[in-house]
Order: sequence, then structure tokens, then C-alpha cells
Amino acid sequence: MVYLKKIDAYGFKSFAHKVTVEFDAGITGIVGPNGSGKSNITDAIKWVLGEQSAKKLRGQKMQDVIFSGTKTKKPLNYAEVTLFLDNSSGALNIDDNELIVSRRLYRNGDSEYLLNKEPARLKDVIDLFMDSGLGKDAFSIISQGKVDEVLNAKAIDRRVYVEEVAGVLKYKKKKEQSSDK
Ligand code: ATP
Ligand code: MG
Repeated sequence: MVYLKKIDAYGFKSFAHKVTVEFDAGITGIVGPNGSGKSNITDAIKWVLGEQSAKKLRGQKMQDVIFSGTKTKKPLNYAEVTLFLDNSSGALNIDDNELIVSRRLYRNGDSEYLLNKEPARLKDVIDLFMDSGLGKDAFSIISQGKVDEVLNAKAIDRRVYVEEVAGVLKYKKKKEQSSDK
């Protein structure tokens, strides 16, 4: 299984300074008062994995993820988040034992993804994680309200969850892409 070792975030939402969160073996709990930035950490993970919906990141527009300043701190010009993943199991289709994924967004809308420090496209990031169980919509992240959503989903929508777990989404996407051509 792929495992998330570390997150570096700078300028993402409430993280005005560089923040590093390390996940050792076992369970890591993040605790803090309301509004202290716990959910911003899961937003940061989803964002790097290619989330394109500002709403799903609890904002109006994508630039809302950039630190917007406080009474004492100036707004920042860009947000950057990097995930360090352990791939020694070989679950991800790359040669390295470690995968470093970064996403950066500037206020003027310029944005970039990096895979092991090399510029990459959003599609590369999405393809790499699809069916790995780690994609932005996979079960590795269960947000507030998600349990209710799964329980109340219509059968046709629930099928998508089963397909992600079973690992068939990749083949469906490939089929769609080849029939579009
Ligand atoms: P709860 O316990 O209520 O779930 P939480 O610890 O999960 O709280 P978050 O939702 O992660 O808290 O953090 C919300 C905080 O992040 C708010 O104080 C909000 O002002 C701040 N925040 C969000 N976006 C930005 C931004 N772009 N710039 C600065 N601060 C931001
Ligand atoms: Mg929260």
C-alpha cells in the first residue's frame, strides 16, 4: 500500500508559514480548537491530488486556497503543498520508492504540478492515483458529512464507490477516452 509520510504546506489557507506534518507508522491524530486548521490539512491533500472544485475545498474560487492575510500578516502571493509518499510496495506505477507530488497556485491564476520535481500535467497526477485508493475522491479521505452521503446515495451513485474500491475506474475512463476519438 502507498503511504503518506509527510506534507509540506506554505501559503495554503491558514498556513502562512511553512508547515510540515509528519505521519509516522500507526495512527496520527491532529487536534486543535475549532477553526485552527485541522480540515485545511485534508483540503491540502485533496488539492495536491488534483481537486478542481473550489467548492469541494470549501471556497468560492480556487485562489481562495491562498493565504489571504490576517490583521497582522500580509496576504501571500502563492500557495504550495507537497506530499511525500512511500511507494516501496510498488503500488504506484513509477520506478521510485518515493513519490513527491507538488501543486502550486499563484494569485494571477498560474498553476503547476510537479511529480518527483519534474513538471507534470494534472492528467498525469490523476492517472497515477486513479484506482490506487488514494485519489482525491477515494476512501482514504472521509470528510465531515461523507458517511451520510454514502448512506443516502442512490444505487447508481453508490456503484461509483464500489468501482473505485474494485479498481475498475481506470478501465472505464480508458474506454470513454477511446470511444471519444
Ligand atoms: P473545526 O474544528 O471547526 O472543524 P478546523 O480545525 O477543521 O475547525 P479549518 O476549517 O481547517 O478548521 O480552518 C478554518 C480556518 O482557516 C478559518 O479560521 C479560516 O479563516 C482559515 N482560512 C481558510 N482559508 C484561508 C485563507 N485563504 N487565508 C487565511 N485563512 C484561511
Ligand atoms: Mg474541521
